[in-house]
Amino acid sequence: DLPPLPRMHMETGGGEQKLPVGLRRQQRRIVVTGGAGFVGSHLVDKLMARGDSVIVIDNFFTGRRENLAHHFGSPRFELIRHDVVDPILLEVDQIYHLACPASPYKTNVMGTLNMLGLAKRIGARFLLTSTSEVYGDPLEHPQKETYWGNVNPIGERSCYDEGKRTAETLAMDYHRGADVEVRIARIFNTYGPRMCIDDGRVVSNFVAQAIRKQPLTVYGDGKQTRSFQYVSDLVDGLISLMEGDHIGPFNLGNPGEFTMLELAQVVKETIDPSASIEFKPNTADDPHKRKPDITKAKALLNWEPKVSLREGLPLMVSDFRQRLLNG
Ligand code: NAD
Ligand code: UDP
Ligand code: UDP
Repeated sequence: DLPPLPRMHMETGGGEQKLPVGLRRQQRRIVVTGGAGFVGSHLVDKLMARGDSVIVIDNFFTGRRENLAHHFGSPRFELIRHDVVDPILLEVDQIYHLACPASPYKTNVMGTLNMLGLAKRIGARFLLTSTSEVYGDPLEHPQKETYWGNVNPIGERSCYDEGKRTAETLAMDYHRGADVEVRIARIFNTYGPRMCIDDGRVVSNFVAQAIRKQPLTVYGDGKQTRSFQYVSDLVDGLISLMEGDHIGPFNLGNPGEFTMLELAQVVKETIDPSASIEFKPNTADDPHKRKPDITKAKALLNWEPKVSLREGLPLMVSDFRQRLLNG
């Protein structure tokens, strides 16, 4: 059990304006779990640039210290090596909860529970990075937030899909039962610099393969679709969601939809027009298509992505070249 601790959270003083709990301070104290990862490190850059105090919690499962090295030494920055499956005591205003490994059921459930428990104790605002995978292999296209999804609970991908679905349930439960201010983002496929090179996602695979002069591996017939969002658009969306008045869930993704063959073509044009394509068997339960309906985020968050795939892909190439050469 946790030792009893004083409730450190800022209560509004005398003449101070009444603001929602998550927004009371000028210079906010913000936790980013998974902040050493791909999306998290870009989010941390933006929060640091804005003048916030940032605490990153990461166990370096897939994240890297180098993603944050430029903040070491800043008095506003702290990096804690910690697994969110274990409880932790901190005093902050906002929690961006991104931590999530590859086989993530336990982290999604216990990690999210701990971060919600933390948010409840200190009155912080809590943002969950959920995923488009909660829609499973969708029977509705494009997907609106009102769609409940088509997920196989015992399939190979289910520890991720069901883990995030449970995390959403926990967040809403803490909101309804304990008044925690929660925000839920459903993130669609995102790419950009600092993406893991070898975790098997299609954009990182194709880009690394093209740079290494290897064939691009297209799974199945390559006609399945995804919608690819550049990481800076996602970070803008996450911050708008955290700062705004709406709980969500909100789809955060780029509605531009591509087949894997079309993606391979864009990668070829961007990196190496002579690159070849190699077809490989697809994985089980692979969603056939996925494209966000972002009407809700446009209307309520005043957000929409700005960077197209053709503009965004070149922006990750030099980062990948550098890391492939050095590693
Ligand atoms: P990532 O793997 O680069 O980052 C995840 C970070 O969490 C890593 O730094 C990792 O070390 C850390 N982590 C994992 N397990 C942990 C644990 N138990 N305790 C502490 N830290 C832990 O992944 P990303 O692409 O940056 O994704 C960030 C979030 O966005 C995740 O929640 C992911 O599910 C969600 N998301 C991402 C995408 C995408 O396309 N990138 C799409 C949908 C949802
Ligand atoms: N927790 C945490 N940090 C805190 C407060 C709670 O890590 O500052 C963890 C706590 O250990 C528990 C979880 O969050 O595992 C849920 O906490 P809550 O108080 O909601 O549930 P309870 O402990 O009462 O079951
Ligand atoms: N894919 C592919 N070649 C690869 C890696 C993935 O054709 O080298 C396909 C995969 O079958 C899926 C799509 O690309 O249809 C997106 O896969 P990813 O793992 O990037 O994202 P998710 O399936 O989680 O949306």
